Amino acid sequence: MKIIVNGKEAGTKDKGCALCGATWGEYYEEIDGEKLFFCCDYCALEFVNMVKEVKKRTNWNKIDELIINGNYYTGRTCTAKNEGKEYKYYVKFNDEAGIDTFKELT
Ligand SMILES: [Zn+2]
Repeated sequence: MKIIVNGKEAGTKDKGCALCGATWGEYYEEIDGEKLFFCCDYCALEFVNMVKEVKKRTNWNKIDELIINGNYYTGRTCTAKNEGKEYKYYVKFNDEAGIDTFKELT
């Protein structure tokens, strides 16, 4: 999965956390058979919950590319891509890493 966080590629230790882009920390989570880097277990859990929600709503079995803009406080505006299709949404997490708000954007 290709991941862009606030304009920069992310998801490896060098590039930064797959959700927030931070380069500190040392946490890995396997998503769709791929080991992704996160700054902490909290970001990883938010990411997992988000991917689950996107797959549920789109019926996709994987995401090829994910573009994330924003942060925890403002919420995140995202575009997920799979086989040439695009799905845009806004997501905001609650303080238990669950989804607080999820809106489909057109
Ligand atoms: Zn993070």
